[in-house]
Amino acid sequence: PWIASVTASFSSSSVPTTKLFIDGKFIESKTTEWIDIHNPATNEVVGRVPKATASEMEAAVASCKKAFWNWSETSVLSRQQIFLRYRQLIKENLKELSKLITYEQGKTLADAEGDVFRGLQVVEHACSVTSLILGETMPSITKDMDTHTYRLPLGVCAGIAPFNFPAMIPLWMFPMAMVCGNTFLMKPSERVPGALMFLAKLFQDAGAPDGTLNIIHGQHEAVNFICDHPDIKAISFVGSNQAGEYIYERGSRNGKRVQANMGAKNHGVVMPDANKENTLNQLVGAAFGAAGQRCMALSTAILVGEAQRWLPELVDRAKNLRVNAGDQPGADLGPLISPQAKERVCGLIEKGVKEGASLLLDGRNVKVKGYEKGNFVGPTILAKVKPNMTCYKEEIFGPVLVVLEADTLDEAIEMVNNNPYGNGTAIFTTNGATARKYSHLVDVGQVGVNVPIPVPLPMFSFTGSRASFRGDANFYGKQGVQFYTQLKTIISQWKEEDATISKPAVVMPT
Ligand code: NAD
Repeated sequence: PWIASVTASFSSSSVPTTKLFIDGKFIESKTTEWIDIHNPATNEVVGRVPKATASEMEAAVASCKKAFWNWSETSVLSRQQIFLRYRQLIKENLKELSKLITYEQGKTLADAEGDVFRGLQVVEHACSVTSLILGETMPSITKDMDTHTYRLPLGVCAGIAPFNFPAMIPLWMFPMAMVCGNTFLMKPSERVPGALMFLAKLFQDAGAPDGTLNIIHGQHEAVNFICDHPDIKAISFVGSNQAGEYIYERGSRNGKRVQANMGAKNHGVVMPDANKENTLNQLVGAAFGAAGQRCMALSTAILVGEAQRWLPELVDRAKNLRVNAGDQPGADLGPLISPQAKERVCGLIEKGVKEGASLLLDGRNVKVKGYEKGNFVGPTILAKVKPNMTCYKEEIFGPVLVVLEADTLDEAIEMVNNNPYGNGTAIFTTNGATARKYSHLVDVGQVGVNVPIPVPLPMFSFTGSRASFRGDANFYGKQGVQFYTQLKTIISQWKEEDATISKPAVVMPT
């Protein structure tokens, strides 16, 4: 039923088509260009998504623009109430949303629930807007004069999302922006639009006024449209470096604020004094969970000194993971998003072998009974990897752990800092001084100490750095509020009636 009511209707081709969401209505696009959506476990076409036409995209921005005045003037308490109701509706529909994610994206149902849940936490955080959006005041900056600031919305903001977190990443974007009083245009990944369409319906049910959230679909044309449209004031992007750097540059050139979270190569440094059992389990979970299709996947291990002896046990644990369609009981990892992604991942494994790495576990020929056409790759481990190999330099974004060796902590730190990406990293150790030194010296935005995937909760911000991020203010938390608001400073002078200004002041007041 959720497909029929929200994401699709059966058109003449009998393949469900994804709607646009414009001015409070789910409407069929008039486009002639459609993109197929596949279930990654079967490669069946399960839907189609339109490349919205220029006039549809214009209508979506016009709707955001029209809604802005009322929405920004709506009391912050009323906006908060809508998000409190929204939170409840997402909770009630978490299982249905998760099914939809698994259907289009492939990840396991349990992991899809995590996808929704981590987005839900941002909605919950958005409900604290009444504290987050407070300005500053200072009385008596000089005689009879006070200053205060307001945090005000920017206007129409836009979000461009990737395929790997169909619910969480859109929920990083529009709730924070909208609770601050902006209206929002979303463009989901053309590969997984369903979850966002469902989330939009729930948002409407929570009482969001028509036009406050609009959704368009498409690829490059839609992205260029967003980067160029003069009525769009800010762009939130999450995805690859290729797209993110382009969007950052094009959007910035057009005078917009842009925040871009991009690719990663996250290192897990394993010290010989670490708790072996915990570390190996954490490493395997974080490398292969979601088939490695997480920007915070721990895709690179650096084994320091004696920890290099743990490699056979690492391989054993990885071997035990179950590869299956995401909706099958017991599945630990599902398929990759597309046959092209599978080909790319397998190509990088092959290149690693050619360049001298040891293939200790090869998941390329994994067979999944009943899902022979799915894009499955099993857990794969490449050891004896060197920093100059392609499998180390490129983000693989698949269930492949590359393993390097270091003699000392200092050597490991140098490797991590020489890698261009700065999204996340983790150190596994039982020594506080080692952990402290690593956390301080490593030039990476998010550091876990015995925490393999250190994604901050929404009261903090997601703080990837270097090649993993472009922009000034990060996603969610205080930084998110800063990104979606601008300051207005008001300086007022109220004198007693008998206090007069006797002559014009022609010099700067001191
Ligand atoms: P992607 O860059 O291919 O797509 C992201 C969005 O950009 C989509 O909406 C797509 O339509 C659009 N797009 C794609 N190519 C484009 C181009 N050349 N020009 C303009 N727009 C384009 O990314 P993806 O494959 O969907 O997602 C995987 C990537 O996202 C990985 O690199 C991953 O590390 C990254 N990611 C980063 C974070 C983070 O917070 N740092 C989180 C999740 C994913």
